[in-house]
Amino acid sequence: MYNKKYDLIVVGSGAGGFPAAIAAARRGLEVLLVERNAQIGGLLVSGLPILAFLDRSGNPVVKGIGQEIIDRLQALNGTKGHIPSPLLNSVTHVSAPWMSIILFEMCEQEENLDVLLYAELKEVKVDNGKMRGISVFCRGEEMVFEANLVIDATGDACVAYKAGAKYEKGDADGKGLQPPTITFELGNVDYEKLFDYLSEHPEGYKLPETFPGIEQTLDYFRSNICFTMMGFSDIVNEARKTGELTIPRNMIDICRQVNGNTFVNVTRSIDTDVTDFESIIKAEFVCHKQVKELVPFMQKYIPGFENAQLVSMIPFIGVRESRRIVGKKQLTLDNIKNLELPEDTVAIAGYNVDIHSPDSADMTMLTVKHGVGIPYGCLVPEYVEGLLMSGRTISVDQSAFAMTRVMSTCLAVGQAAGIAMAIAHKHGVLPSDIDVSELRAELKKDNALIALD
Ligand SMILES: Cc1cc2nc3c(=O)[nH]c(=O)nc-3n(C[C@H](O)[C@H](O)[C@H](O)COP(=O)(O)OP(=O)(O)OC[C@H]3O[C@@H](n4cnc5c(N)ncnc54)[C@H](O)[C@@H]3O)c2cc1C
Repeated sequence: MYNKKYDLIVVGSGAGGFPAAIAAARRGLEVLLVERNAQIGGLLVSGLPILAFLDRSGNPVVKGIGQEIIDRLQALNGTKGHIPSPLLNSVTHVSAPWMSIILFEMCEQEENLDVLLYAELKEVKVDNGKMRGISVFCRGEEMVFEANLVIDATGDACVAYKAGAKYEKGDADGKGLQPPTITFELGNVDYEKLFDYLSEHPEGYKLPETFPGIEQTLDYFRSNICFTMMGFSDIVNEARKTGELTIPRNMIDICRQVNGNTFVNVTRSIDTDVTDFESIIKAEFVCHKQVKELVPFMQKYIPGFENAQLVSMIPFIGVRESRRIVGKKQLTLDNIKNLELPEDTVAIAGYNVDIHSPDSADMTMLTVKHGVGIPYGCLVPEYVEGLLMSGRTISVDQSAFAMTRVMSTCLAVGQAAGIAMAIAHKHGVLPSDIDVSELRAELKKDNALIALD
């Protein structure tokens, strides 16, 4: 069933990889999508809501394949669509199992696409600086695949790293990475009781000073069937002082899911470098212990959670930050502050700059008035040809990363990467040499957004 040679290999099937594989297969390329898990979708199937399909001004910034997924989910009642949010610009809550079913279905509908699950990248083949293929371990067997075009959507830039591409990680010393987290879901939460408590205790949803200019309202929580809330700093900080809570986080971060359960995003393993296997394994242990501490804490102190039940937990730690590849261009915090939408924009980022402190309990959120453009050069790594980056590992500085890492942006970047590869294949040129205006025209044809309406 699988070929030995493909036009394009996409490694990693998350928000960065999935749309890349679909977009290229729809343009006739023979594509292999490689994924080490048994599920397609990476963090798309974690139950995390997708942030910032809309920017802070309410402009849609991501459509194309990202929107197609949401439309398919909506038809199955697997999402309530894009809900504007005073905190997170917009939130699209998704049902993880329906998302998983849809992603499998979409792959199956592409006749040029082969999906290889249970397959961890082993080696990359590079000749004279050009990608020539990869090998993987799949169910204990080593397999070799040839391709002159490869997209690295592993989230950790595994392909680019092995191919010798230049990368950055964390701050100037390679430290200070945002911490990874194990998220989990609670059932049997009494939201009316929670709202009643908050109406008496508005300090419960007051955001810290590190969220300048952002306010949450009780009315917002009450009027949206799915909502996201960060709060209870008062209760959390008191418990941290007495030692009853040891998790390095100064808030409880929850969202009400499509199924009525509460998704909890609070655990943190600080001082972790996920590219170091000992460090990430230690983080798994740390966060599992934190879940055990947090569930009874919430039952005891957060009104409405007294009878909450632990329903599910992500089966692997969620990685916020690891390698960022150095590309032909780099998106910087200055570009964001200047709200730039350059001529070579191939995807729009519409989120805020959201940083989970690498070494304390804090979190900061700097709002960004409207979407900013990601230039094509951010997808093109230095030193290795035939390779494009997609998802969270594109070429951005550490602060810009805190904006571009969300899944809506990764979906938009993924579609651009897939179409760029189709153009390179069509003209027999390297992806670094394609005409970006042709890419932009093709993106528009596919209903992807490259400008604000
Ligand atoms: C705790 C947490 C909370 C977050 N909250 C939100 C949120 O609320 N909303 C939002 O929009 N974003 C959120 N994000 C950010 C967002 O989820 C990620 O940045 C985004 O999913 C990255 O997409 P990606 O495709 O680059 O990586 P991933 O989704 O991680 O996908 C990478 C895929 O590659 C596969 N892979 C990796 N290495 C290999 C290999 N060596 N061989 C084969 N396959 C491999 C992985 O299994 C995975 O399927 C959060 C992230 C975390 C960790």
